[in-house]
Amino acid sequence: AKSAGRNTSAFFDVSMQQEAQNHLSLSNALREGLKNGQFKVFYQPIVAKSGKVSHVEALVRWLHPTRGLIAPGAFIEVAEKSGAIHALGDFVLAQACQDLALLKQHWPHLKLAVNRSPLEFNDAANPARWLNIIQLAHVKPSDVIFEITESLLMPQQARQQTMIQHLQQQGIAFAIDDFGTGYSSVSYLRRFPAELIKLDKSFVDPLPHDADGLAMAAVLVQMAKALRIRTVAEGVETKAQAACLDTLGVDYQQGYYYAKPLALEKLMDWMRRFEQ
Ligand code: C2E
Ligand code: CA
Ligand code: CA
Ligand code: CA
Repeated sequence: AKSAGRNTSAFFDVSMQQEAQNHLSLSNALREGLKNGQFKVFYQPIVAKSGKVSHVEALVRWLHPTRGLIAPGAFIEVAEKSGAIHALGDFVLAQACQDLALLKQHWPHLKLAVNRSPLEFNDAANPARWLNIIQLAHVKPSDVIFEITESLLMPQQARQQTMIQHLQQQGIAFAIDDFGTGYSSVSYLRRFPAELIKLDKSFVDPLPHDADGLAMAAVLVQMAKALRIRTVAEGVETKAQAACLDTLGVDYQQGYYYAKPLALEKLMDWMRRFEQ
């Protein structure tokens, strides 16, 4: 863009400045919102092959006083760039563990999946704090799964591997989120001994009728089985997809076909009805 001439360059400077400003005000609003209790944690059920709800995934929402409910796609990146992701991640983990403790009074076998940004693994002080948060909520680390996307181990492999190993030794399981959308999926599994992989929605969408889509999903499930890694299918929207994934041998399913992410009370209502 710089070599495109003076006018263009000036234009880009202005819009970049604008963007930086928007970014700054959004990250300030985010920190303020965290202090003022504007963030809520919703839960989406994850259903095991047995037909029981085995986990819930914590998904954060911003209940903005004027802009209403904001989905994480609109603020996670800003939180990552501004460093607020650590405070946001702590909030989500603490809230979700507190809610899990309550849910376990009714559903003692329920587990919790929580998203972690790869950037949260750039600070070696985080694991000890997370374990403390979990303990304070009277939740066992073995009831918690951390979901992380494939990009994680690219920059600082060794240190991040140590952090993950430490958390695994304490009982936390790891799921590779959006599996199959990164560029090194298969070799990644060798470096990152995850307990679970979450097949991205893009592998579920073509099911059950698309032959190539079916072949692709089948291969990924078989590979996971060979490596003794459990599989979760994301973005299951239809009964036909659910049946197909079941036939393929996927261990867990999640998606609008079962339930959207729900506030705690709504989740409990849904769980009661689902079990009938
Ligand atoms: P994700 O971890 O891959 O979560 C799945 C997303 O797909 C969620 O969007 C969920 O609402 C949506 N989804 C679930 N089932 C279906 C379905 O059947 N159809 C469709 N079309 N969508 C479905 P959401 O809640 O907007 O979250 C978006 C992303 O934001 C998440 O993707 C995750 O990467 C990130 N995120 C959410 N909460 C947190 C958090 O607490 N911390 C961090 N670091 N990231 C988070
Ligand atoms: Ca996830
Ligand atoms: Ca995902
Ligand atoms: Ca995703």
